[in-house]
Amino acid sequence: MAVEVLRLGHRGERDKRVSTHVALTARALGADKILFTCEDEHVRESIEKVVENWGGDFKFEVVESWKEYIRDFKKRGVVVHLTMYGESINERIDTIREFLREDKDILVVIGGEKVPKEVYHLADYNISIGNQPHSEVAALAIFLDRLFEGKTLYRDYPDAKIKVIPSERKKVVIRKP
Ligand code: SAM
Repeated sequence: MAVEVLRLGHRGERDKRVSTHVALTARALGADKILFTCEDEHVRESIEKVVENWGGDFKFEVVESWKEYIRDFKKRGVVVHLTMYGESINERIDTIREFLREDKDILVVIGGEKVPKEVYHLADYNISIGNQPHSEVAALAIFLDRLFEGKTLYRDYPDAKIKVIPSERKKVVIRKP
């Protein structure tokens, strides 16, 4: 079972911060891979550095054709597009979680400014995180947290060089050489 995130509509310079946040959020909340539709060395390097220091095997990849990627993915898993126009997450999350239990892969698709109509038809599920417009970072975080029921938030990364020990008031950090 793998959970991947496909980020559509990255627009270079303007989106660097949001795109980096999308990738960090995907990793921190339990996804295995982030896919962009165009290369961004800045985002790639930021993610690779985080993985090196904080552990795990999270991947950054670039796909040539998002349509082909979605079509291929459907042969091995389920495609969930997050959009404010979709069905309620509250009504659908149990159905989607069932695919995880069956060991199927899940591809979460999130947009930037305008998402092509085709995405709505290619996706197996169009899911809203509320029907108000907000952000792909917030939508992704809530979706992954609901999918994994909070279990990925405090995951241990055995190969991490840096670890935070939860503390009531102090910053407690362990660093391996
Ligand atoms: N009109 C867009 C839409 O379809 O949700 C809002 C664009 S928003 C700047 C960028 C991305 O954030 C969207 O493509 C979607 O993936 C995500 N998003 C924003 N609000 C959302 C919501 N309420 N539910 C699910 N996803 C949302």
